[in-house]
Amino acid sequence: MIIYKTDSEIELIRKSNIILGKAHGEVAKYIEPGVKTSKLDKIAEEFIRDNGAIPAFLNYHGFPNTLCISVNDVVVHGIPSDYEIKDGDIVSVDGGTILDGFYGDSAFTYAVGEVEESVWNLMQITLNSLYKGIEVSKIGNRIGDIGFVVQRYAETNGCSVVREMTGHGIGKHLHEDPSVPNHGRQGSGKKIKRGMTIAIEPMVNLGDHRIFIEEDGWTAKTIDGLPSAHYELSVAIKENGADIMSTFEYIYQAIEQNKNITAPKL
Ligand code: MG
Ligand code: MG
Repeated sequence: MIIYKTDSEIELIRKSNIILGKAHGEVAKYIEPGVKTSKLDKIAEEFIRDNGAIPAFLNYHGFPNTLCISVNDVVVHGIPSDYEIKDGDIVSVDGGTILDGFYGDSAFTYAVGEVEESVWNLMQITLNSLYKGIEVSKIGNRIGDIGFVVQRYAETNGCSVVREMTGHGIGKHLHEDPSVPNHGRQGSGKKIKRGMTIAIEPMVNLGDHRIFIEEDGWTAKTIDGLPSAHYELSVAIKENGADIMSTFEYIYQAIEQNKNITAPKL
């Protein structure tokens, strides 16, 4: 069942997402060769709690941490660990918050030091595909239109989209209806209506679209070992289209200050 939000509820989801956006920015200050992903996780947890919010992923269906940190061929749901980030890695950071009962959810992929051109292109294509999806997230279109444009854009540019994981509705729950696939047919799926709040999150692979889950039950990896990128924003449907409730603003500010990382811009 899709839960449509009032404007005041949308503002509460935005507040939660802004704290999350700031937490992402805080984490981005510390991404550098040699840093353990577990350290980044602690920085996020502390920042979220210090700002009066709750880390939404911690203990969600038993997930052990605040962030999902997914390096290179890890698609999503990477568990923070003693792994030390190294030059040439791409690092996807996915986070969630709860504030006043409403969830925030957004994700961003960074390049650490020098990455191969094909990998940089993957990041750019993934980011662009997210905004392609946001562009068609408007009243009168259907949920399938989002996946259609994301998939068409990614595949036209020589990449592939993950099928098993999708975007989703967001609100008083982290994952609400409808699910928002990154592939699909134009004109299929639920009608997009005012007050819908959805997280759009293309997961795009450089090679094969297929993935597998590691023995820990979480870590999703590409089947061919090639890298995968992930960008996510939560948006609300209004009369004039999608109102982006999440923000990458603090991330880009941090990137300007941190010489160890880069990321594509729209
Ligand atoms: Mg999500
Ligand atoms: Mg997420």
